[in-house]
Order: sequence, then structure tokens, then C-alpha cells
Amino acid sequence: MREDIERVLIDEVVIEKRLDGMAAAIERDFPPGPLVVIILLKGALVFAADLLRRVARPIGIECLNVASYHGATTSCGKVDFLDRQFPEVRGRHVLLLDDILDTGRTLHAVIERLHEEGATAVRSAVLLAKDKPRAVTVSADYVGFEIGDEFVVGYGLDYLGRYRNLPFIGVLKAAVVARVGGS
Ligand code: 5GP
Ligand code: MG
Repeated sequence: MREDIERVLIDEVVIEKRLDGMAAAIERDFPPGPLVVIILLKGALVFAADLLRRVARPIGIECLNVASYHGATTSCGKVDFLDRQFPEVRGRHVLLLDDILDTGRTLHAVIERLHEEGATAVRSAVLLAKDKPRAVTVSADYVGFEIGDEFVVGYGLDYLGRYRNLPFIGVLKAAVVARVGGS
């Protein structure tokens, strides 16, 4: 796995330090009271696990399966909600967690749905945000790191289902992407 990485973009120590700051900001910003955290599967799992253990207040955790990427390295533009039931968010303050803000379609669609479902307030946190124009107008309230417009893996982010368990954010070798049929 490690041998498929061209370069490490953000190493583990740097990520963990940044999560301390993000958790502190989240604790400061949310009013006291029940908080529902929604984790977008599967990409935000590792980020969520490390971030939420730093947030010292009662939270409920829900997971949401949405598909926007369908396995390749480019977005297809459509966001599908794959769960049969949507988490109960009516009257709740919601913190939405995703791995990366790319075109913005995923975050935009989920935030819209959360409002439709009656959430009192929605804030979002992403580990990474690509420095590029978004396809839709959306921004995250908490951003771990701004990165360039390139495809990254690790720390929850996959390429065709692999590399999620790498402890850092890295860029794949071009030969690996070509070999396993990226676009
Ligand atoms: P968006 O809807 O903002 O275009 O894309 C969000 C989703 O696309 C993310 O949750 C993630 O699953 C996927 N994605 C976008 N950029 C990357 C990337 O550089 N690497 C990986 N592994 N996934 C990405
Ligand atoms: Mg993905």
C-alpha cells in the first residue's frame, strides 16, 4: 500500500494537531444541549473517530450513506441517499462530517436534506477542502486543510475501495491509477 504512494501530503502528526484545534472550535461554537453528529460513510469514518474523541460533550452519532463518486477519481454530479431511513434530526443542532469538499455537491445535497428534515441548525466540518471553484455554492464551517486540486487517498479516503487505512493523506503514483483503471 505504502509503495503505491507518490508523496505524503499531510502526515499523521500534523492531522492530529489540527484536529485538536477543530474540536476546540466546535465545542466553543455549538450551544449547550443535544448535538447530533452525522458521519458521511465511508470516507469520513477515520476523521470522525479521531475528531469526536476530542469533543468533550454529549453527542449522538448517526451515519449516512451517500454516493457521489462511484469509485472513480471524478465526480459524476449526482448525489444518492442510500439508506432506507434518514436519521432523526428534527429540532436538533447537527454537525455534519465529511472527508473532503470537492465539487461541493455532496455537502450541499446533505445540508439541504437536513434542513428539510427539520434540523434546527446545521454546521459542517471537513478534513480537506480542495482549492477550486465549486459546482454548487457551499462551504464548510470547519476545514482541516486546504489542498490543491488533486486526487488524494488515506485517512479514510479511498481509491476504488483501497487506502482508507493509511494514517496520512497522500497522492497515488500515476502508474497505480493507470494500472487499476482510473479515469
Ligand atoms: P463532492 O460532492 O464535494 O464533489 O465530493 C465529495 C466526495 O467525493 C467525498 O466525500 C469523497 O468521497 C469524494 N472525493 C472527492 N475528492 C476526492 C479525492 O481527492 N480523493 C478521494 N479519495 N475521494 C474524493
Ligand atoms: Mg469516496
